[in-house]
Amino acid sequence: MDITIIAESNGNELHPVTSQLVGAASTLGGTVTVLCPGGIGEKEASEISGVAKVVSLKGDCFSSFDSGAWSHVMTPHCGDGIVMGSSSPSGRELAAQIASKMGVPVVQDLTGIDNGLMMTRSIYSGKAVETSNASGSCVITLRQNAFEAASLGGSAEVVTVDSSSEVSVAVKEAIAKAGERLDVSEADIIISGGRGMGDPANFSHLNEVADIIGAAVGASRAAVDSWDEIPHSMQVGQTGKTVNPSLYIAVGISGAIQHLAGMRSSKYIVAINKDPDAPIFGVADYGIVATWEEALPSLRDELANL
Ligand SMILES: Cc1cc2nc3c(=O)[nH]c(=O)nc-3n(C[C@H](O)[C@H](O)[C@H](O)COP(=O)(O)OP(=O)(O)OC[C@H]3O[C@@H](n4cnc5c(N)ncnc54)[C@H](O)[C@@H]3O)c2cc1C
Repeated sequence: MDITIIAESNGNELHPVTSQLVGAASTLGGTVTVLCPGGIGEKEASEISGVAKVVSLKGDCFSSFDSGAWSHVMTPHCGDGIVMGSSSPSGRELAAQIASKMGVPVVQDLTGIDNGLMMTRSIYSGKAVETSNASGSCVITLRQNAFEAASLGGSAEVVTVDSSSEVSVAVKEAIAKAGERLDVSEADIIISGGRGMGDPANFSHLNEVADIIGAAVGASRAAVDSWDEIPHSMQVGQTGKTVNPSLYIAVGISGAIQHLAGMRSSKYIVAINKDPDAPIFGVADYGIVATWEEALPSLRDELANL
């Protein structure tokens, strides 16, 4: 079986989720080819154990994410078997475009897969788990941190393909909003604030902690709906973003089911809430019953001294 993995990049580097995709692919067996859009991370990808070949795709269209142009160039390099990508927003968009061009099904945001191609993912805001089976070619995306990463030690051949002439229209540049912080869907550590923060200005206390530990700052829907200063792009949950970081710190968030739907699969959850009966403590690995006014300055000082 051919398994084609779409490498995920983080700026100019290979995103660690790419090794997790290879790790998942190795449980299926088959020949693994990694496609590196824009050639980003081609060397690192070739060193992941279990990778047979790396196709480094060069071309103007890769200077900025554009699922239409990328899928046009990448689809001919996808093998007949399984095409696997990350369940990031761009990964899901690209997967859907490639699946439609290949005329095969797409199954998004998997949290489990076995070598009989039984695939699991959570549905209905995490209230149920769906198991499905694919009998032929398909495109799938895997949730970050849900699979063991493959180790290093490979030495796959790297083939470079220049696709500059194949795309007639492409996005040349995407300009991020001024002052925009790390996006929650990209981050391995997230600190989120809820209505309990009391005022949008108090998110500066979350920013301080985030800056020390390299975290993204997220928010509950109540915070986003209450305050114009907190944009929807920060919202975690059923109608916001689904995240799966190594560490999720929820501050002044009650833990409504719609919020949990977006973050309950995080590896470690820390909750800071003044109400000992807040439902967030039901999913937290560590809980601090205190106001954020008491807890955050101590947390900030302790982390700064590490
Ligand atoms: C269809 C639908 C979709 C939804 N989608 C989402 C979604 O995507 N994401 C989402 O988050 N919600 C979503 N919601 C809303 C959700 O039901 C909750 O209303 C929301 O999550 C509550 O946000 P919160 O926890 O910040 O606020 P609250 O529920 O008001 O909780 C505030 C918490 O802060 C604590 N607190 C107060 N002051 C302090 C203090 N000084 N220090 C520490 N703790 C303090 C309180 O004890 C309380 O637990 C959705 C709802 C619906 C109906």
